[in-house]
Amino acid sequence: MDTKLTLNEWSARCHGIAKEKGFWDKERNVGEALMLIVTELAEAMEGHRKQDEANFKEELADAFIRLFDLCGGMGIDIEKEIAAKSERNKTRPYKHGKIC
Ligand SMILES: [Mg+2]
Repeated sequence: MDTKLTLNEWSARCHGIAKEKGFWDKERNVGEALMLIVTELAEAMEGHRKQDEANFKEELADAFIRLFDLCGGMGIDIEKEIAAKSERNKTRPYKHGKIC
């Protein structure tokens, strides 16, 4: 098992597996793909509530896998996007200017 992939390599890997399993046979509905990521986070929340740490971690992994798949399928260079947004966030005020 290779755990030393870059984020873009994970995107390519997750997308390749999803394609192979037929999830991209038809054009993907982006809204649906985003909501499926949310469902994985909801499952992680349930794992947390039930104090099932193994399930919590697995559901977080599912969320990343779906995110990477979407990035791979849409040709998004997520490393570039994260680097750019992280730089932009560094310039924002404390708590991004919000009171609470
Ligand atoms: Mg899941």
